[in-house]
Amino acid sequence: MLRGQMMDTPLMISGILAHAAQAHGKQEIVTRTVEGPIHRYTYRDCYARTQQLAHALVALGVKPGDRLATFAWNTYRHVELYYGISGIGAICHTINPRLFHDQLEYIVNHAEDRFIFLDLNLVELLEGLADQFPKVEGYIIMTDREHMPETTLKNALCYEDLLEGQPESYDWPLFDENTAAAMCYTSGTTGNPKGALYSHRSTVLHAMGLLAAGTLTMDSTTSVLPVVPMFHVQAWGQAYAAPICGAKIVMPGFRLDPPSLLELFNDEGVNLTLGVPTIWLGLLNHLNETGAKLPAGFVLVSGGAAAPLSMIKAYEEDHGVTYVQGWGMTETSPVCAAGGEGPGFTELDEDTRYARKMKQRRLFGVELRILDDDHNDVPHDGKSSGELVCRGPWIASGYFNDDEASKAAITEDGWFRTGDVATIDEDSLLQITDRTKDLIKSGGEWISSIDLESVAMGHPDVQEAAAIAMPHPKWTERPMLVIVSRDGSSLTADDVLAHLDGQVAKWWLPDDIAFVDELPHTATGKVSKLQLREQFKDHKLPTI
Ligand code: ADP
Repeated sequence: MLRGQMMDTPLMISGILAHAAQAHGKQEIVTRTVEGPIHRYTYRDCYARTQQLAHALVALGVKPGDRLATFAWNTYRHVELYYGISGIGAICHTINPRLFHDQLEYIVNHAEDRFIFLDLNLVELLEGLADQFPKVEGYIIMTDREHMPETTLKNALCYEDLLEGQPESYDWPLFDENTAAAMCYTSGTTGNPKGALYSHRSTVLHAMGLLAAGTLTMDSTTSVLPVVPMFHVQAWGQAYAAPICGAKIVMPGFRLDPPSLLELFNDEGVNLTLGVPTIWLGLLNHLNETGAKLPAGFVLVSGGAAAPLSMIKAYEEDHGVTYVQGWGMTETSPVCAAGGEGPGFTELDEDTRYARKMKQRRLFGVELRILDDDHNDVPHDGKSSGELVCRGPWIASGYFNDDEASKAAITEDGWFRTGDVATIDEDSLLQITDRTKDLIKSGGEWISSIDLESVAMGHPDVQEAAAIAMPHPKWTERPMLVIVSRDGSSLTADDVLAHLDGQVAKWWLPDDIAFVDELPHTATGKVSKLQLREQFKDHKLPTI
């Protein structure tokens, strides 16, 4: 082999913000602060403060390889932490404050976090947990002196005090691009949470991959508002991708209710936003109830769970929104595939167009396969399903300090096992049909809970629906639907069955339908099937 004569400069996260400060220096980062008011500054300001932060971290005694945790919402200070911490070779460990307390205890101790940065309205939560964190040396409250609360947290410091007086220029070290930069634990619905450890290389390539996806449409004319939290898989890479292309970033803080979001969408000219379907269902209800409008040219990205067809159609047809669906997970940085449009899309008939909107195309850099139980490839015909496995520079090769989980996650030939069940069609478009642990197996055949839910949610009086497997002596398992009906509706089980009839195969029709006031949700805002199965474990199907 003849070696190329090109420079071997490492892909560094610090390089992203340095680039933004130079190439897009006047572009804004706008935040609804936890303290209340809207804060705005430029990439240049952000870069200067990130350099002050780097000095402050070194002064605190932070060393390369140290883990520093954040319990924080989407704000400009959190952006500074992303860059300042990784820039000096330490690891920014984002934590979801909505996790169960025993999970938080496990995560902080397992990661051996040295310091915790926290937002003002999470002080009480941390005060209640601090006794369980013997190794944490100090807590930095992300506010200014004026808002600094009284607290029992040991070594409590004020973020703005820490930065004050530090030089605005830092000589960022260059080191191996495979060095760890950030970390995020899975929510651990089964067993202990597991830590995905992202590198500088994986983070930069993932951000560039997002920008190359086309369907995510970001450039320096974009105003992007990530509703997806910065603790939920790095806000799906937005805080890294936006500075590369010079997009304006609008950070919603912790107010994610529809009126607060709408205010920012309209005031800040937002034309790209990202989040999980639960958020978009709530926003859609609000739009329909109030007649409020979204800005023109709005692109809405949904991921983290399947979205019902009825929601996609309502956004596109009634609200003039371009809907894009993405697939990914904590272990895949997360985005691996997004948007099913592709060549010739606009000429397709309506049904085919919407069918494509529910699928996603893989990003350059990621390889996807679907496998049967014997690890043979399943045909890409859009019908045959199998376990989705993936490979690429932003896919986890294992978990932090967890050999057993690492071994289980990777196939013998080096592919990451996603635990998702999917189809891939002739155009190579991916569609998730289930999670392996949520599958419903009836009489030896699989029923896709996602499909069943999507059709059920097409009924105008169904607010939310979840399908779960119930044990059955003859068929092994049968589907049961749990439904939240819209306020004021008098929806009955027979109405739902009549609606499903003809839209799904006869043998997919649920054996029972229950109505509840609310479905249980996970800390990332998805329906918790685990909790739902637990809730209905003593329920007896009428067909037994
Ligand atoms: P958790 O949901 O446990 O907090 P993740 O955020 O990593 O963890 O979730 C990843 C999972 O979300 C995927 O494995 C998949 O089951 C689901 N998911 C993500 N995107 C989609 C999608 N477009 N369609 C269906 N399911 C999706």
